[in-house]
Amino acid sequence: MTSVFDDLVGQEHIIDNLRSAVAASRKSPQTQEMTHAWLFTGPPGSGRSSAALAFAQALICPENGCGTCSDCNATRTSAHPDVEVIRTEGLSIKVEEIRELLTRVAWAPSLGGWRVVVMEDADRLTEPAANALLKAIEEPGTRTVWLLCAPTLHDVLTTIRSRCRHLQLHTPSTEAVTQVLMNRDKISPDMAQFVANVSQGHIGRARYLATNENARSNRKVIMQIPVQLGSLASALQAAQTLVDIATEEAKTTSESRDEAEIEKLQEAYGKGATGRGMASGGSKAVKELEKEQKSRATRMVRDSIDGALLDLTTFYRDVMMAQAGNIQSLINTDLHDVITTFAANSPADSSVQKISAIMNARVSLAQNAAPLATCEALMCHLARR
Ligand SMILES: [Zn+2]
Repeated sequence: MTSVFDDLVGQEHIIDNLRSAVAASRKSPQTQEMTHAWLFTGPPGSGRSSAALAFAQALICPENGCGTCSDCNATRTSAHPDVEVIRTEGLSIKVEEIRELLTRVAWAPSLGGWRVVVMEDADRLTEPAANALLKAIEEPGTRTVWLLCAPTLHDVLTTIRSRCRHLQLHTPSTEAVTQVLMNRDKISPDMAQFVANVSQGHIGRARYLATNENARSNRKVIMQIPVQLGSLASALQAAQTLVDIATEEAKTTSESRDEAEIEKLQEAYGKGATGRGMASGGSKAVKELEKEQKSRATRMVRDSIDGALLDLTTFYRDVMMAQAGNIQSLINTDLHDVITTFAANSPADSSVQKISAIMNARVSLAQNAAPLATCEALMCHLARR
């Protein structure tokens, strides 16, 4: 029989824990065997939120997560009355959002089982928000199970993480990702191998690259940046290119979604065909939604720049490999010639410094630094020999 846990690539080490928790959850709530708060950590792309969502399905589904029944489907598409998936579009989760959430989940689960809350970015909780959440997690006898996700344990406040059962996800191997892309997504072996390699175990990114030609050509442009950096002008140009590509990517993914959301909201407020006659509060709600969409777009641009910067680190990592004579372990196999030439012409320690400059820029971006200025400073650094 199929199980939602089959989809968790490279996470065999946690699946037994999840299965026994599901078994415990079937017993009477008075036995107190069920852990009510879980924390999934793992590097980007390891599938933290997919693991949490699979666990949610297994808790809700009468067949322990068959993946095909109506409960499993509704859970996956965020349409199940007893499952809340909190995806943050902004840079932080504020205390007001947590209070609203707590009001929503205060009711007993509609179907008599468990209520499950999946919080994809527990690392974005502000301190007051985390404290509000803490009270809910500690409440005795609750029928709510909290599944929090964060990159590492250190990204979550101590008070929260000390009350959660922790599961650490691993980055799946390139082979595992290649197999999944071939078997499940029917991607050709060559393409699967290539995208698995350049995505470094990030299965979502690998799948996106394999199925999206535009993304592949954007990646090509980004990977040309190191060889084009010769002058201040070229560095500034490269920074602009990076930001433009990220903005474009964010725009194509969000545009249709934004419009649909606004339309739905206007309908809810009774907007007629003429665009007039919305019930009171309607235009205020639309304005608020537009504000939310704007902050989501900002975050998507940042995430996209971050992905491009990660790609760039693999370039310099490959240069170091080439300089060490380890040419068979290149990540960017498509850039073999470019990398060997670059390696022959650059000082031995410069790649390490460049990788650390990129990492610093990623930290600044995550802390809300202005994207273009951050990229400009970085590119000027990378342009030095
Ligand atoms: Zn099911």
